[in-house]
Amino acid sequence: MTPALVALIHVTDVQRITPRMVRITFTGDGLDALAPWPDQQLKLCFPRPGQSAPRLPDEGAEGDAMRWYQAFLAIPEDERPWMRSYTVRSHDPARQEIAVDFVLHEGADGPATRWAASAAVGDTLARYGPDAAYAGQLPLDTADWLLLAGDDTALPAIGSLIETLPEGARALACIEVADAAEEQPLAVGRAGVTVRWIHRKDAPGGPGEALLHAVRDADIPSGEGEVFAWLAGEAGTVRMLRRHLVGERGLDKRQAHFTGYWRRSLTQDDAPTEEDLAEAQERIAALRAESGAGWGG
Ligand SMILES: Cc1cc2nc3c(=O)[nH]c(=O)nc-3n(C[C@H](O)[C@H](O)[C@H](O)COP(=O)(O)OP(=O)(O)OC[C@H]3O[C@@H](n4cnc5c(N)ncnc54)[C@H](O)[C@@H]3O)c2cc1C
Repeated sequence: MTPALVALIHVTDVQRITPRMVRITFTGDGLDALAPWPDQQLKLCFPRPGQSAPRLPDEGAEGDAMRWYQAFLAIPEDERPWMRSYTVRSHDPARQEIAVDFVLHEGADGPATRWAASAAVGDTLARYGPDAAYAGQLPLDTADWLLLAGDDTALPAIGSLIETLPEGARALACIEVADAAEEQPLAVGRAGVTVRWIHRKDAPGGPGEALLHAVRDADIPSGEGEVFAWLAGEAGTVRMLRRHLVGERGLDKRQAHFTGYWRRSLTQDDAPTEEDLAEAQERIAALRAESGAGWGG
């Protein structure tokens, strides 16, 4: 059965797992039927002030993403939920639950972070996704060596990726967090994964700087099979990481998958910049090439 893409979800548990990361567990229709795959992305809809649940488009449009989104945009702005992207950190189909880890980033007052900071059992959001059409698009479990690099917003995805690597897989994860208190245990199982925690507070250049240094210093094996890099975090940092890997380490562009998870001084409601649009075009072209020729083909 294909689970509904759009549904209300209700908070069943709230845990502050580190000083700046809150794990929120949700239940809701369709969560028992989600297919399991790592790095599941979904859109969360947050209610406007005075609403007990986010207002959604009338039923009937969700089979067609474009139609649903147009109906979403047709909701008057002061009633339309804020929509933000998040990652399923874990999934318990038997309990019909998912957990999402929210970074409570310093000094930021966006609606998602505000909501997460005071979320309580019984609160209601809506989800759009995850969409199984995006499962298994990257060679994450077939590459001979993986680099996973990102900041704390990418930590839920990196955690889910690491935890599902097959036995014997080799990977280096470079994860930038505020400080040592933000490190969290990751179950690497029998895969050969090195996790390198990088502390933002030690980097004089500000967010992203320490992660760039860590990736520049990383030993990337050559001549030992396919290398694949998965990069996510602040958009400008992710761009620089990719430029370094492609321009200075000689990776093919298709070997470096990158996603800007947030943008400095811009909210997720702000219009895309020229660089955002260029990247989106490039990503679409890469996906088309992969589906036509196969990765590495
Ligand atoms: C595919 C995808 C998956 C994601 N998964 C997760 C996840 O699992 N957990 C998670 O916490 N985030 C995740 N993010 C990032 C999250 O969507 C953004 O951080 C988002 O901007 C938060 O929304 P907001 O309403 O708090 O802030 P917005 O209203 O979007 O922005 C308000 C202000 O906060 C700033 N800001 C936003 N994020 C940060 C940050 N991390 N550090 C410092 N300043 C920031 C913005 O620059 C802006 O000035 C993901 C993003 C994508 C695209």
